[in-house]
Amino acid sequence: MKALVFDGTLKLTEVPKPRPVNDEVLIKVLYSSICNTDLEIVKGYMGFKGILGHEFVGEVVSTSSTLSGKKVVGEINCSCGECYLCNTRRQTHCPYRTVLGIQNHDGVFAEFMVLPQRNLHELPETLSLESAVFTEPLAAAIEIFEQLQIRPSQNVFIFGAGKLGLLISQVFRLNGCDTITFDISEAKVKKARSMGINAVMVSTLTDLDKAEVCVDCTGNPEGINLALSHLYPRGKLVLKTTVSNSAKIDLNQIVINEFEIIGSRCGLFEPALSLLSQGLVDPQPIITKIFDFNDIMKGFEFAAKPSTLKVLIRH
Ligand SMILES: [Zn+2]
Ligand SMILES: [Zn+2]
Repeated sequence: MKALVFDGTLKLTEVPKPRPVNDEVLIKVLYSSICNTDLEIVKGYMGFKGILGHEFVGEVVSTSSTLSGKKVVGEINCSCGECYLCNTRRQTHCPYRTVLGIQNHDGVFAEFMVLPQRNLHELPETLSLESAVFTEPLAAAIEIFEQLQIRPSQNVFIFGAGKLGLLISQVFRLNGCDTITFDISEAKVKKARSMGINAVMVSTLTDLDKAEVCVDCTGNPEGINLALSHLYPRGKLVLKTTVSNSAKIDLNQIVINEFEIIGSRCGLFEPALSLLSQGLVDPQPIITKIFDFNDIMKGFEFAAKPSTLKVLIRH
């Protein structure tokens, strides 16, 4: 089969079709999408080598599976299910885990892929494939609300109106807090506004503007310092940015201001599927362009442009 392999360089090449082992099932990939993590891996993040990609919608082809013939999305962490962290509901932190397209597990930029059956979620019938491909990043946006209580009376600054920032902004809107989304790009601010998000240019911020909760989803190493400079004392900073090179931060200001810093990664799929299928989060305006799988190299180039939001791949 054809697959997009990264081994120091990126290439679309022929590889053997994957064979499911243990409780894995074979899945035919229907749609995938390019995430910032994929672009960072190509720059050296995680040191991953293999087939890239972790955001997908597919159809189960293993006839032995109870999901055979069903359209599914899948959680990306394949954990052992037996260790201390797995037994204390922290499966996404299992030290023995592999991660789809990120760590020791071939990803979804291919004709076929494998995942354990327990990672899979069947699509609600009303949900389009193009929307369903956003389940994984939307689950990551929802994870913030699993991690901290945010009261509607608190104000929130979201830094970054990119792919993830636009999803996070839509989720915060449902909570009713006074939320402002900032970006350096006029086009992204305009796009966010067209989606009903309260977005402004970051240049309008003064030193006096502060929030109780800041979320950094700039995808930029300096985003953390920007967010810290607009946090009230005892405020909470949620970090969503993962980059191949990280920023220096002054730890003194964290002690003096009693800031709380919360790293945030993967989240629950069921609430994400629920929000998408009810139309409470609409990812369609975030799609900049859809490429055919054969043109995925062009898709990667296009996705790396600062003005691009989500690139989908039709398999
Ligand atoms: Zn992703
Ligand atoms: Zn484990």
